[in-house]
Amino acid sequence: MLTALKPQPADKILQLIQMFREDPRDGKIDLGVGVYKDPTGLTPVMRAVKAAEKRLWETETTKTYTGLAGEPAYNAAMVELILAGAVAADRVASVATPGGTGAVRQALELIRMAAPGATVWISNPTWPNHLTIVKYLGIPMQEYRYFDAATGAVDFDGMMADLAQVKAGDVVLLHGCCHNPTGANPNPVQWLAICEAIAKAGAVPLIDLAYQGFGDGLEMDAAATRLLASKLPEVLIAASCSKNFGIYRERTGILIAIGEASGRVVTQGNLNFLNRQNFSFPPDHGARLVTMILDDEALCADWKAELEEVRLNMLTLRQLLAEALRAETGSDRFGFVAEHRGMFSRLGLTPEQVEKLRTDHAVYMVGDSRLNIAGLNRTTVPVLARAVADVLRG
Ligand code: PMP
Repeated sequence: MLTALKPQPADKILQLIQMFREDPRDGKIDLGVGVYKDPTGLTPVMRAVKAAEKRLWETETTKTYTGLAGEPAYNAAMVELILAGAVAADRVASVATPGGTGAVRQALELIRMAAPGATVWISNPTWPNHLTIVKYLGIPMQEYRYFDAATGAVDFDGMMADLAQVKAGDVVLLHGCCHNPTGANPNPVQWLAICEAIAKAGAVPLIDLAYQGFGDGLEMDAAATRLLASKLPEVLIAASCSKNFGIYRERTGILIAIGEASGRVVTQGNLNFLNRQNFSFPPDHGARLVTMILDDEALCADWKAELEEVRLNMLTLRQLLAEALRAETGSDRFGFVAEHRGMFSRLGLTPEQVEKLRTDHAVYMVGDSRLNIAGLNRTTVPVLARAVADVLRG
């Protein structure tokens, strides 16, 4: 049986990590994988997470199973963090999932069950896992234009023209904030138009919210999600705690399904069913830490303060990099780096230039020229800017 298996294509980012590890050069710079790094290059455990873990260790009396949907207190705290009362509670069903990826997967399975044949519309480009999971599940897919490589901004006209083709019952997958991989995001006026286009089409948005707090702050980053959730009859939200709580390996996420109040019990039952079929009970440790933090005033204040440091560090690096690139290249071509939000920006370099960055300068970024801003620090910003200027000269 196993001999019938075909090799899977290698994961490009994991390949990049391996190459970086094996590179013996001093001063090599890793801008590949999407984890936050502090100015010393570490991905620390957040203070509030450490404190909650200590408290949990002292007070936890059992590790017996939780509910299929997770602990109700976790779901309630996450729904509040994301929606802040934008939607009546009796319209909201939710399940805890293994990370944001688990939430995306469960959302797509729910879509396949509820609307077999519905097309899922995906931004071009998007996080590669969106494409592979949709394909793996055999769900019809179409891309909508999203990014204008010439300006580094959202190709809003192209996006709207493509969204006009969306049919009733289709699903539009959106990044709630901090678009991965481009870093370019619609402004509030554009979000309103996107919301209207989806309403007009009679489609359902699936919002992937993996970076709340990494862009313009916890509230602003949830604004588009809240807008869509409050205006549209049905909305799916797949959210991750990996980044904003720094608990990547704990696998903590949530799928929220908003619909008519009269259908909530059936929707909830189907979410529970999907968890049951795929893994039974969702992981609890990370969810419990998140709940303890969100439900405790002091821990929550400390978490928010540290998250804000993280966000501001990335914003400062963006400004420094935009300035350094302007100085080194003598052009405003990379001004968008300061406008982008979140952990990533797509620089718009060719695959050959990205390869030259690696071979000549020991700078590692994904082949589409996506770089992890948090992989930089004040010392490496000018090094990167000089390297980019060098590869642009050819
Ligand atoms: N969606 C997007 C757009 C992401 O970038 C990520 C993380 N790379 C996720 C979802 C999910 O992350 P995780 O499963 O680690 O929570």
